[in-house]
Amino acid sequence: MRYHSHIVTSLLLGATVAAQTPLSFTASYTAGVVIGSLLPDIDEPKSYVGRRSFGMSNKVKEAFGHRGMTHSLLVWGMIALVVTWESSSLFATGFVLGYLFHIIEDFLSVQGVPLFWPLQAKRYKIPLYRTGNIVEMMIFYAAFALLVYIGTKENLFYEWWKSFGSFM
Ligand SMILES: [Zn+2]
Repeated sequence: MRYHSHIVTSLLLGATVAAQTPLSFTASYTAGVVIGSLLPDIDEPKSYVGRRSFGMSNKVKEAFGHRGMTHSLLVWGMIALVVTWESSSLFATGFVLGYLFHIIEDFLSVQGVPLFWPLQAKRYKIPLYRTGNIVEMMIFYAAFALLVYIGTKENLFYEWWKSFGSFM
């Protein structure tokens, strides 16, 4: 999945979670969701984050391959523990959720993800789309439309805008 699809589908999932729970859809929460939803592709040098990782991405890919360790639920669990131990901020919560959303989104691609690395190298998937194909584009536009719908219906954009002062 391309980075803009990850951002939009993760924001949609993040908005859905915020609408169903006491979590507030603030600027720092959404910043956390976006950054968390981009970070797992640090193992792909050609990805959006990979191109901005100052060479770190090549090292990660050399060591583990693309969609290796960074796309494992077990690794996510470790990161989630450390991050939530360090901070209970909305940014940290958004980050942990965004990272999880990325794994779920890639799980729906034909390439799949090694959910239980390092215990298992097997890639799990429900193959709905192939990266960059028409189905991914449709997911992107549908997620965008749903995000606008939920954001408006649940008053999330207003909440987001109001929070901006405290984020700066
Ligand atoms: Zn990925």
